[in-house]
Amino acid sequence: MSKNFSDRLNLNLKAIVKHFGTPFHIYDEAGIISTGEQLKKAFANLPNGFREYFAVKALPNPSILKIMKDLGFGFDCSSIPEISLSQIVEAKEEDIMFTSNNTSKLEFDRALMIDSIINIDDISLFNKLPRLPQIICFRYNPGSRRQGNSILGNPEEAKYGVTHEQIIEAYRLAKNKGVKRFGLHTMIVSNELNYFNLVKTAGMLLSLAEELKKELDIKLEFVNIGGGLGIPYKPESKGLDLLEMAEEITRLFKDFQNKNGYCPKLLMESGRYMTGPHGVLITTCINKKDIYRKYCQVDACMSSLMRPGIYGAYHHITVLGKDDSAPQEKVDVAGSLCENNDKFAIERMLPQIEEGDILIIHDTGAHGHAMGFNYNGRLRPQELLLTKNGEVKLIRREETMNDYFATLDFKKNILKL
Ligand SMILES: *Cc1c(COP(=O)(O)O)cnc(C)c1O
Repeated sequence: MSKNFSDRLNLNLKAIVKHFGTPFHIYDEAGIISTGEQLKKAFANLPNGFREYFAVKALPNPSILKIMKDLGFGFDCSSIPEISLSQIVEAKEEDIMFTSNNTSKLEFDRALMIDSIINIDDISLFNKLPRLPQIICFRYNPGSRRQGNSILGNPEEAKYGVTHEQIIEAYRLAKNKGVKRFGLHTMIVSNELNYFNLVKTAGMLLSLAEELKKELDIKLEFVNIGGGLGIPYKPESKGLDLLEMAEEITRLFKDFQNKNGYCPKLLMESGRYMTGPHGVLITTCINKKDIYRKYCQVDACMSSLMRPGIYGAYHHITVLGKDDSAPQEKVDVAGSLCENNDKFAIERMLPQIEEGDILIIHDTGAHGHAMGFNYNGRLRPQELLLTKNGEVKLIRREETMNDYFATLDFKKNILKL
């Protein structure tokens, strides 16, 4: 969370809480726009351009997608509902990159219906396409040639993509079947803070581009280095050096242009980097409990934010009106699920919290609300947008009992055996 967002939010948070009630995620429009502009500026010197395809799964809310559309970004979708969400903000054709895995025929039908870019996860899927797409792209998995990172695991163990041994054959197949336009995709890391790993990915794809030209006379229109740009969740971590990364990638692309006389466009599909730091989860302490450990129990739970519970992810927490100079206390910040991993922080030193205090859980703008679930009948919270004009707008209401019961409203359907 930037100091700028924090300052603007803290100033008005009491009033926002009074008006909307907790819990809620709130996103910062100005911050998202600023990150988007920085991204475009950083890659402005590439020989054949740049486009970010926002990974819809990170924050699948049409009001957020509209901001991405206005930045000129496309959308990385991997399911039919994600395509439909992008269409709400009038994304069409090559604004949409359909990057699915384990794809069904129905999904290919839908992605082809709108002429999106099809990114194929396996050779066998090519022959299952209902018709040839305009542009085809394969997802490359370099296997033991590259190390992943702790979140995505090593490529060799990942279920995604086409192997090194298969990749040329995959393009040969597509070319022989009559596909005319090509791109290439990979995704190796997640939440990566070392920019050089993404430079290496770009270099790896450019070498493959040369190989495809040599073997099959294919000139790739684009290479897509995937998402995975990291954000500093801990106050002491250093953020990704975007400028250095862009400079080194630009150099690789310029060299490619000079050597080969053409150059693919660079695509990226960041989710976390675009929205992660520009959202926070606001929740109220409703119970304090003092047993073997001290607990601050809040009115949000894993239905609002799964990351700490499922992979022990760190989210920084501050308390409204209490800074580090306040007396501290070691607490677990817990929700109300009957699951002991329903905690936003474990044995964390925080300013002494009273019931009624407002907690700010930082950096929930990506893979936050979107991952929520309904276990224990716990419903997902509302989403708000702090607009660049200084208003706070509801952009998704909280779930209600009616939503929870909606799937019990069905026609009688019994198979007699
Ligand atoms: C999840 C995902 C992304 C976005 O990842 P971030 O870590 O949010 O940048 C991009 N591309 C693919 C294929 C993904 O699965």
